[in-house]
Amino acid sequence: MKKAKDILNINNIARAVVALAIIMVFVAIILVFTRNNGVGSDSSDDGYRSIVVVSSGDTLSKLLTEQGFSNAQVLEIAKVLKSDADITSLRADSDKIEFVRSEEDAPVSKVVIVPSPWRQIEVTCNAEGQWQCQTIDIKPDTRVVYRQGEILDGDSFYLAGARAGIPDGILAEVYDLLAFEMDFERDVRAGQKFSVLFEENYANGEKIDNGRVLAIQFEALRGNVKMYRFKKADGKTGYYDENGNGAIKSLKRTPINNARVTSSFSTRRKHPVLGYTRAHKGVDFRASTGTPIPSAGAGRVVARGYNSGHGNYIKIRHNASYETLYAHMSRFAKGVVVGTTVKQGQTIGYVGSTGLSTGPHLHYEIIKDGKHVNPMTVKLPAISNLDKKDKERFQEYRKVLDDGIGHLSKNPDWFIQL
Ligand SMILES: [Zn+2]
Repeated sequence: MKKAKDILNINNIARAVVALAIIMVFVAIILVFTRNNGVGSDSSDDGYRSIVVVSSGDTLSKLLTEQGFSNAQVLEIAKVLKSDADITSLRADSDKIEFVRSEEDAPVSKVVIVPSPWRQIEVTCNAEGQWQCQTIDIKPDTRVVYRQGEILDGDSFYLAGARAGIPDGILAEVYDLLAFEMDFERDVRAGQKFSVLFEENYANGEKIDNGRVLAIQFEALRGNVKMYRFKKADGKTGYYDENGNGAIKSLKRTPINNARVTSSFSTRRKHPVLGYTRAHKGVDFRASTGTPIPSAGAGRVVARGYNSGHGNYIKIRHNASYETLYAHMSRFAKGVVVGTTVKQGQTIGYVGSTGLSTGPHLHYEIIKDGKHVNPMTVKLPAISNLDKKDKERFQEYRKVLDDGIGHLSKNPDWFIQL
């Protein structure tokens, strides 16, 4: 095994990765190993293997018969798969089957069905000639990686994130989280830097999928936004800023992701339809007709109706202080009526241009204690804050993550393991 120092000096370390193993949350140990080593090949101790990817038209009995199984054996294997693993059919283009033989021309001694990268079903024959099956759950090898990017002229956060190598699903989650703190329309400018620490799940040295977002940083205009994923003593996880304040707010400033603000909150503006000056009590987001409108927070629908100004609108009460209103909808979501309890992010209706409107958009209002407030600047309450004990643990954990970020920011090809 190479020493860490030697690896550090290699410029292109595409194949070298560092694992920062954190035995406890507070202790970090650095290990070095090479990507993709130790992966099993076809000629393992297990014997001779052949792998079949299930294609359309394949049935278990067809595939087994092709491998030399008798009709009686096929029936027995199908029975044991149904009773012990709840498998009755194969899925084309996703399931794989491995057939293991002691030698190339020997009869199959083991059948391994792989319905997902994290699950294998092994069917083996015992000494009495009976087929048995066993389900094996595969623990992902989870690697924490770090990606950093910069907003360029004319960029959206999505473009910049994709260029930084942040996968789509992770980027969407990051956007959702940042949307609690940032107004993407006004806070995002060329030259701003951002970074994300997230998990990738591997099996046998091969990346299978992405895991969770662990930390986010964004140099926003109104100050740096930092978020860390943290598990409280009661087992609940959330995102917290560097001081341990809950980062997930009870309401979203921007209910629709990536929608452009076309008109801001103001106490005086010239109305585009009426022509005279009057207050704009909300924010307008441009979006095409039919775009789903998610509820900005959990709450209960207190009004659903039509008026000449708002068109089709819905009002939701979130708690004793906060209400939100959504206007100009083309239609309401099915089953969302006065009295319906909605979750944060649940679709309540669809963008339209009903009422006094010049084109499809969402008009969104936040009402605090009966008064309209600016959704882009109002300080929103956090859903959960940490108690004193959790806060102390959080600060220790945050240092560990920051330490990891420090290593990875200098060595973007590395990963850490928590
Ligand atoms: Zn409006």
